[in-house]
Amino acid sequence: MDRLANAIAARRDSLIDLTQDLIRIPTLNPPGRQYHEICAYLDGRLSGRGFACELLRARGTPGDSEEFPRWNLIARHKGARAGDCVHFNSHHDVVEVGHGWTRDPFGAALEGDRIYGRGSCDMKGGLAASIIAAEAFVDCFPDHAGTIEISATADEESGGFGGVAWLAEQGHYAHVDHVIIPEPLHKDRICLGHRGVWWAEIETQGRIAHGSMPFLGDCAVRHMGAVLDEMEATLWPLLAGKHTEMPVIPEGARSSTLNINAIHGGAAEPPAGFTGLPAPCVPDRCRITIDRRFLIEEDLAEVKAEVTALLEKVRARRPSFRYEIRDLFEVIPSMTDRDAPVVRSTAAAIARVLGREAGYVVSPGTYDQKHIDRIGKLKNCIAYGPGVLDLAHQPDEWIGVQDMLDSARVMALVLDDLLNRPA
Ligand SMILES: [Zn+2]
Repeated sequence: MDRLANAIAARRDSLIDLTQDLIRIPTLNPPGRQYHEICAYLDGRLSGRGFACELLRARGTPGDSEEFPRWNLIARHKGARAGDCVHFNSHHDVVEVGHGWTRDPFGAALEGDRIYGRGSCDMKGGLAASIIAAEAFVDCFPDHAGTIEISATADEESGGFGGVAWLAEQGHYAHVDHVIIPEPLHKDRICLGHRGVWWAEIETQGRIAHGSMPFLGDCAVRHMGAVLDEMEATLWPLLAGKHTEMPVIPEGARSSTLNINAIHGGAAEPPAGFTGLPAPCVPDRCRITIDRRFLIEEDLAEVKAEVTALLEKVRARRPSFRYEIRDLFEVIPSMTDRDAPVVRSTAAAIARVLGREAGYVVSPGTYDQKHIDRIGKLKNCIAYGPGVLDLAHQPDEWIGVQDMLDSARVMALVLDDLLNRPA
């Protein structure tokens, strides 16, 4: 115990340097920049510390091209004896910078206990903490049992299809026993899973005509207005009344939710700088994209049926109403059992390092656990890592050095428990 704690504390500077180096490689997604650079950097570091590294390109997955290839890295440390395989998975991509920064988003400035930069919190700080944990553990126990794996994967921010989903399809999780995803859920909380997702496009259809004689056409935007009215009157109240036993944070997400991500109707927006006037037409198409988040107590078929029933209700009132509905994306909710080995081990380590009970949470949105669960068929998976979730995707995003050190100690203790002291 003391040896591991000392080994982590001794790596403070190394942890800071590593985190800064990772932030300074701007792996922006979209479009997917510098994925090879970050994988090569990690290969250089981990190969030098006894890990066998593989760089794997997810050819043909969404976004993969010669200009923006989807590269992933898996680093593996095999112990001296047979045992379990513990896998740390971090995504290496970051979202766009956005406005409002007061620091260089890729400067990785260290100010007091904080390192600032895009991706610091989500999730290069977590990746760095897991690497320091694994390096410290291997140093203390060179003849450990089992295998430690660290993966840095592409495209989590855009669905993970060129990252964890592809690795799972290729069988890279077949031999894995425990997975920790160091997403920024906070150093004293274990994230067991996430709600479900259904994205769909609803199109209302009408007939185009001259705008001065709208009675000769059929306005698709007015049809959509009727759909939205019906949602206000019946669907949102219905969803707000559905509560889950999942410990979702923030608490507002313990109900079903539905967002309208976009609405488009009639003529396309003119290009920026265009000075002409629009032409008068009755819109014959109107589309919304809905983002429905559902609970483990709900069934996806029922979730879809609610929306279809609503559209049919509108149709009964509007003789010319026609619609189409198109599925875009769906994810089944995932929740790991609190008695799963990786959960129990992490909870014990949190209690030991931080002197308090671990909190259990579920994420309102999805992350790569969905692919490990559904494609990799592995239920023994959690998200656990340093950082404040609310800072993700924000300007002046930062990660705390002490938080990274504490969660690295937790991760190293989990390795000790699962590899050196199997049940
Ligand atoms: Zn993330």
